[in-house]
Amino acid sequence: MNRNHTNGKSDTDWEYERLSMVEDQLRKRGISDERVLHVMGKVPRHLFVPPESSNRAYTDGPLPLGEGQTVSQPYMVALMTQCLELTGAEKILEIGTGSGYQSAILMELVRELYTVERVHALAERAEQQLVTLGYHRFHLRVADGTQGWPEEAPFDGIIVTAGAPAVPDTLLNQLHENGTLVIPVGTRYSQKLCKCTKRGNTYRREEDTMCVFVPLVGEYGWEDE
Ligand code: SAH
Repeated sequence: MNRNHTNGKSDTDWEYERLSMVEDQLRKRGISDERVLHVMGKVPRHLFVPPESSNRAYTDGPLPLGEGQTVSQPYMVALMTQCLELTGAEKILEIGTGSGYQSAILMELVRELYTVERVHALAERAEQQLVTLGYHRFHLRVADGTQGWPEEAPFDGIIVTAGAPAVPDTLLNQLHENGTLVIPVGTRYSQKLCKCTKRGNTYRREEDTMCVFVPLVGEYGWEDE
């Protein structure tokens, strides 16, 4: 079994696969934010997945991450990031650090990233990998992310990369006016991607794409099974 990430491929080979992913899986399916497309073509996804899966890093699907968790499908990472409509000035909260791949994508596009992961082993691995790749502008903590990060609120955007039974009020309350929360909402096995925008005391909610995420486990999420 292959135990290292290079898998006999050169950086140019990986880049070719990555740019093909951007064209075939993202642009053709309607991802149109050029900044998002650019960073999806830049961040080395193969270095965030377990070595035995690196040969599938740029294929069109989620990949196992260990601890029963998954690295989201590239299209879903791009779509959720695009939903945040980032300009570069934002302070963002991410719930579900996982591999750190989505965190790296966000850090390329925002001012400051706060990220929360409940599984200690994953948080540690993600932090190490991000630092190795030169990412430093992030704050990571091991906690129940359904509580948000109250000391650092409000945020311009919050992205939840695990599926919730309902939109947690705790997170909506930690948004700035006009801030956006992107979160998969539904059952444990299938969800719809939900985009909530804060408008005064209410929220505008849009839902469309079907998706399948691992459960968001916590006080305002699912119970641990
Ligand atoms: N964004 C990740 C996807 C990881 S899968 C990536 O790009 O790799 C979802 C992650 O959410 C898992 O790592 C899981 O442990 C985490 N998670 C689930 N419930 C959580 C909670 N309440 N708080 C923080 N993290 C949570």
